[in-house]
Amino acid sequence: MSRIKILDEMTTGQIAAGEVIERPVSVVKELVENSLDAGANQIFLDINDGGKAGITVYDNGCGMSQEEVSLAFCRHATSKIFRAQDLYSLTTLGFRGEALPSMAAVSRLVLKSKMPGEIAGHEITIKGGKILSLEPAGSPAGTTVKVTELFYNVPARRKYLKSRRTETGLIVNMLQSICLARPEVRFSVKHNNKLVFKSPGSARLLDAVSAVYGVENASEMLEINANHNDVILTGYVSKPSLTRKSRSYITVIVNGRYVKNKNILNAIDAAFKGFIPSGRYPVAVLLIDVQPGLLDVNIHPAKMEIRIDNSNQINELIRCAIRECLRNGVLIPGYKIRPQGAGQAAVLQLGYEEEKHRDKTKEQIPVSDIEYCQKSLNYSFKESKKFDEQGLKQQTIYPPQVSGAFGSDDSFGSDDNLFLNDDHSFNDENEIINIKTNFPFLQVIGQLPPTYILTAGPEGLYILDQHAAHERILYEEFLNMFQSGHQQTQMLLTPVPLELSYKNLTILQEKLHVFEALGFVLDKFGNDTYVLRGNPAHLTTSDSINRFIDLIDDLSEMKQGEDFNHDLITRLSCIAAVKSGETMSLTAMEAIIEQLSRTLEPYTCPHGRPTLVKITKRELDHMFKR
Ligand code: ADP
Ligand code: MG
Repeated sequence: MSRIKILDEMTTGQIAAGEVIERPVSVVKELVENSLDAGANQIFLDINDGGKAGITVYDNGCGMSQEEVSLAFCRHATSKIFRAQDLYSLTTLGFRGEALPSMAAVSRLVLKSKMPGEIAGHEITIKGGKILSLEPAGSPAGTTVKVTELFYNVPARRKYLKSRRTETGLIVNMLQSICLARPEVRFSVKHNNKLVFKSPGSARLLDAVSAVYGVENASEMLEINANHNDVILTGYVSKPSLTRKSRSYITVIVNGRYVKNKNILNAIDAAFKGFIPSGRYPVAVLLIDVQPGLLDVNIHPAKMEIRIDNSNQINELIRCAIRECLRNGVLIPGYKIRPQGAGQAAVLQLGYEEEKHRDKTKEQIPVSDIEYCQKSLNYSFKESKKFDEQGLKQQTIYPPQVSGAFGSDDSFGSDDNLFLNDDHSFNDENEIINIKTNFPFLQVIGQLPPTYILTAGPEGLYILDQHAAHERILYEEFLNMFQSGHQQTQMLLTPVPLELSYKNLTILQEKLHVFEALGFVLDKFGNDTYVLRGNPAHLTTSDSINRFIDLIDDLSEMKQGEDFNHDLITRLSCIAAVKSGETMSLTAMEAIIEQLSRTLEPYTCPHGRPTLVKITKRELDHMFKR
């Protein structure tokens, strides 16, 4: 090993750049953040070949004087903080004074800037950290930075860059996330001279959400508005019918800063638990505003990670606000009819189906063929086709087993009785049976074997999944029982001895109190034997012993975390619920609907699948080409 010496500036510059500037998207993030800090309300981005050939950011912000233009490239030169305490009252995105010198150390960079009152601007050219020129130049008010030859002197970094499409995808996604944080700013992105994204800068978050996710998806999102102890939470979350298979469609913004924070993501997951299937994630934009003093943004060179004091309280606020919003929203997924290209039939789309290859858009946006790029969230129509072909053609619809549900035969199916007009809103008291959840009044038409209950409601045809609906009902009943301690038990005429494996016996002993809280009555009989004397009243199945043993088997595979009780009760509800394939009487179907309407979260089963979907009269008219 050689002796200690202090590294020259060129080397320290490159080392520091390694932390801040990882790939083209890091350049974009730092430049755009500088433009926002400069007060710009228009920021335009031009990239070439995924940013590898060039990145230019134009802004109409406050600009810089000649002196500042050269000073900005000194390490730790910043206009945003003066001393360490300022970090705790930060209102800007930047503060480290590292981005411009870091970029300039690993590229060729030209910065042109003019302050609004000045006659001429100034242009500086730097390559590999060396100033090549600084001269007056014609310039509009604001700042333009052009970065080319990125990593020309760091071949290892250059080699590590991904394809043009991937790098462009990362850039567009980053810019879209920033655009969601700052809806008052007009953004645009051009790739190889082609517009791939733009936002209106109207200051309305929903407009920014529409620009990023599309108007139709934005109209399907629920607004969040909550606050507690100086923490303000706003934003939008998707209804459970719109989910993705990764968390990359969740944008979290804290004090105007787009951040990655695992705890906040966990709080969002917890809010959606039971509303969407496990392994699926919502689309969401959450803006959290806290006092700057509660925030430590200086834990990551790229300032993407933050630490928040009070984070437990904030996470709880997020969880409760979203959950409340989901509970109050009308969450019945519908079919959507969208015209496709010329000559193609209209496409039916079911809210719960995803288009697998689309998920890749997060990483690979096909830039060459998009004019106006949105984080794409369309669904495929595979599911509806299956329904069409295998369902309606092959299955018979059973009429109600008790006559008179709709009065005379004449009125059955007549427009007046089945459907109200298109722009019907849920005003009439009679059409809503649960005001809190906006649960519609539904009349049973019949059962569509093996699984569905067909009903007529205020907007058209509503279809229930009998198993999912019953699971929801039982889940809430078991949960109530569990939480209130008021078990409802049905005693067995003859107690049944349980023959359990050693492993299952251990589980039963360990969780005996949980089973008892759910309404099971178990007695110890000898050393290693239990007898079952009573079942929860809701477990009406004739095969309850085997179901009980199945439940214990399942328990051995469940994780013993905080979700254990939820998972156990979900499992029990699934076991106890009416199965697909079971024929139901009209009275039983009506009872399911009545009980479902009284649940807190009627529109999804505890696994997060829908209990109810609808096809509106308008959609039926469309299908029949009326
Ligand atoms: P930081 O943003 O952390 O202060 P940077 O290296 O990114 O550090 O920028 C250094 C300084 O250059 C900033 O503090 C700001 O004063 C100035 N600056 C950078 N970009 C712009 C811009 N687009 N408009 C006006 N001033 C800018
Ligand atoms: Mg900066």
